[in-house]
Amino acid sequence: MNTSTFKGGIHLPGYKEGTEGLPIVPASIPDKVYLPIAQHIGAPCLPLVEVGDEVKKGQKIAAGKGFVTAPIHASVSGRVVAIEKKQHPGGNFVNCIVIENNGQEEWADTVKPHLQPGDLSAEEIRNIIFEAGIVGLGGAAFPAHVKYAPVEGKKADCIILNGVECEPYITADHRLMVEKAERIVAGLRYILKGTNCEQGIIAIEENKPDAIALLKKVVAADKHIRVQALQVKYPQGSEKHLIYACTQREVPVGGLPLDVGVIVNNVGTAVAIADAVEFGIPLIERVVTLSGNGIKNPANYLVRIGTLFSHLIAESGGYTGEIEKIIAGGLMMGKAVYTANIPVIKGSSGIVILKKTESKKEREYNCVRCGKCIEACPLFLEPTTLVKLAKRGLWEETAQNNVLSCIECGSCVYVCPAQIPLVQYIRRAKQAINVAKAKARAKAKSEGGKE
Ligand code: SF4
Ligand code: SF4
Repeated sequence: MNTSTFKGGIHLPGYKEGTEGLPIVPASIPDKVYLPIAQHIGAPCLPLVEVGDEVKKGQKIAAGKGFVTAPIHASVSGRVVAIEKKQHPGGNFVNCIVIENNGQEEWADTVKPHLQPGDLSAEEIRNIIFEAGIVGLGGAAFPAHVKYAPVEGKKADCIILNGVECEPYITADHRLMVEKAERIVAGLRYILKGTNCEQGIIAIEENKPDAIALLKKVVAADKHIRVQALQVKYPQGSEKHLIYACTQREVPVGGLPLDVGVIVNNVGTAVAIADAVEFGIPLIERVVTLSGNGIKNPANYLVRIGTLFSHLIAESGGYTGEIEKIIAGGLMMGKAVYTANIPVIKGSSGIVILKKTESKKEREYNCVRCGKCIEACPLFLEPTTLVKLAKRGLWEETAQNNVLSCIECGSCVYVCPAQIPLVQYIRRAKQAINVAKAKARAKAKSEGGKE
């Protein structure tokens, strides 16, 4: 097989055998859903409903101002019983619209099929994607319509659908590719039309031969779309590495995929787009892998957005014993959360539960200068240097050493024999730099305003 990859990175155990053969099953629909008003990159939405309102499935219940936003829709029909703060998978507390499910599954009048989807213009397709609240389902949750909007002086000529799924335990995209190959390709064709792009690539790691074979078959007669098999390496799914592996184009430091003519989307996003463009269905459900050695019955669930992690955990028979961690997202780039009382959001690809005995001990030792973190870093950074600077609060110096380029992939932490939580220090440095930048911008704005 002709496979590609990138320089650097690490080889991880996949731990996918628990779920990769399990078909996607619909999770039971809970009595209440909790829909955070912040589920995308950009300013949070504002509620369009009040406590006591009756809502229907697919009804728009929150929307934002500006361009970088994505509306939120009711994932069940019922009554709004609260708008209250609840812990978000990202770690902070966010206002959630709480809907008590009436079990009627009544669709909103706005949800209706587009009878001639093939006749839609690029602009109409982008508008449908915006109205459907579609964001990147790989985890980044960037509003899809923003990626597709024309940008003066820049032109995308290639769409890459990311079916890599290099995070251990997570198999949601793999199952989607095996079970919904046709819908993925349909979605990709709408993205190509919506962006006026000629070339589509579906990128898949070679540890998913069934998905590769099936998608190759589906696109065999389409000269605009090809399937690219990639070597199994972490973090193959990160945008910059994926673009390089598929096209040999290098996104410049601080640049965007569009700078090299590429737009990257997750395969799940393509399915959501096909459903929105053809059936008028907004983003109200997604596939979530629930796995790890701490859960009794791992599964791939089709889940209504706003379902609590605890609901899915109960559906899977509960924990296997005392647990060490609940991770929202993948083992490497996900976030450990302290409760299962957290809702699934648009960007939730997986939940990993680890039991006490098998997770890594947290004790940090002194750096032994082995250089393994430098070898592993796919961005060619020097994590050990960044951490030394961060420990001393030398934020400017960390910036000079490109700390902002770090994608927080965790490869350096994985190989570090001293168990130094390098990413935690790096995150602290990035936050400090971003806060300083925001303060400088605010100061410049207020000084500018006085003149
Ligand atoms: S420094 Fe950042 S990008 Fe490099 S390996 Fe560590 S987490 Fe990944
Ligand atoms: S891998 Fe860990 S111990 Fe080795 S140089 Fe990097 S920080 Fe130091």
